[in-house]
Amino acid sequence: MNSRELFIEAKKYLPGGVDSPIRSFNPYPFFAKEAHGSKILDVDGNSYIDYCLGYGPGILGHGYKDIVKVVSRQLAIGTIYGTPTENEVELAKMVVDRTRCAEMVRFVNSGCEATMSAIRLARGFTERNKVVKFDGAYHGCHDSVLVKSGSDGVGKPDSLGIPDDTAKNTFSIPFNDEEAVNCLVDKHKDEIATIIVEPVMGNIGCLQGKPGFLKFLRDITEENDILLIFDEVITGFRLAYGSAQEYFNVVPDLVTFGKILGGGFSIGAFAGGKEIMEMITPSGDVYQAGTFNGNPISISGGITTLNALNHSIYESLNKKGDFLRGSIVDSIENLSLNLTPVGLASMFQIYFRDGDILNYEDVKKSDLDKFNLYFKILLKNGVFIPPSQFECCFISNAHNNEDLEKTSNIIHDTLKEVFK
Ligand SMILES: *Cc1c(COP(=O)(O)O)cnc(C)c1O
Repeated sequence: MNSRELFIEAKKYLPGGVDSPIRSFNPYPFFAKEAHGSKILDVDGNSYIDYCLGYGPGILGHGYKDIVKVVSRQLAIGTIYGTPTENEVELAKMVVDRTRCAEMVRFVNSGCEATMSAIRLARGFTERNKVVKFDGAYHGCHDSVLVKSGSDGVGKPDSLGIPDDTAKNTFSIPFNDEEAVNCLVDKHKDEIATIIVEPVMGNIGCLQGKPGFLKFLRDITEENDILLIFDEVITGFRLAYGSAQEYFNVVPDLVTFGKILGGGFSIGAFAGGKEIMEMITPSGDVYQAGTFNGNPISISGGITTLNALNHSIYESLNKKGDFLRGSIVDSIENLSLNLTPVGLASMFQIYFRDGDILNYEDVKKSDLDKFNLYFKILLKNGVFIPPSQFECCFISNAHNNEDLEKTSNIIHDTLKEVFK
């Protein structure tokens, strides 16, 4: 069956034909067959240079040899034991070594579980209930964070099935708005357990804080005994050896990881100082558990991945990012387009608008129709990026110069066609 036929079939058995909503795009998504290095192949015989990389995890490219080797060996000697393993200790040490805020780690199965547990821990530790997040931030699909801003920032459910009573324990306010944070903290400081933030807003494109914004969050949380959580599910092991907290030189109380950490297998983790982390069960009374927590496959994938992610790999990854972002800037200038290229390290995106872009409201004013056209033409030309203005594109270490030059030409031609 080809992708079109498979999608018709899929819709009979899977709601919307997919297992996660972003994967569905018009008229139908391509169905993947294989992926190797920087390329993903579909069942229709097309090959694409992949800048989606599973929405972030694939920093070493598809089918990285050492991961295949190590995980295959692990498959043969057991995939689930229900007991602790030496490898968990090793990966925990590796995470702690790289992560300034971390003395201890708990491994879970997804980024969603990581933020859910980190928020519970923050509530347990502070004995307060309220959570502050930023509009448009994505922290997984659990009730406390699937919340949008109502009046005064008081949360409203962002999905059917979430009780108002749950949502109103979360405030959602505009990113980059120090005034809004000040106001909220002033009014509710004795109730706020945590401020959770993506150090780079990777779920509304690729939006950075204004200079000093993360530091401001660090200071105001410290002054008010509020825990600061960096949701580094995207930025963790992506931006730098020590993740965003090293890149921006701001150290949170708790961090959440996922995506890259599993080497392509399901994983999540949260980490922080010993005093806080020891409140987790069984050493403490904040409940957290999971059948597949610390499972041998994801852990061995993670160890192999972090071993490969040495300091020099970030230099070469970031150079690739610089090249691609530079070529995008050139194209936009040459074609005189009112677009805003963004990104850092090995992340990039183009906002289909100009002017100041500071928060979710600003991103929403992008020309989404034009973006969709850009996405479609890129795909037709052999480049796969996430199908939304609100996602971020990623580069892997498997992308070579030929891939990057080809991509920069294709992006140029595509922009030209979109705005002809
Ligand atoms: C992807 C993502 C999550 C959720 O991770 P899952 O593994 O999909 O549950 C949480 N936070 C951020 C910042 C993410 O990008």
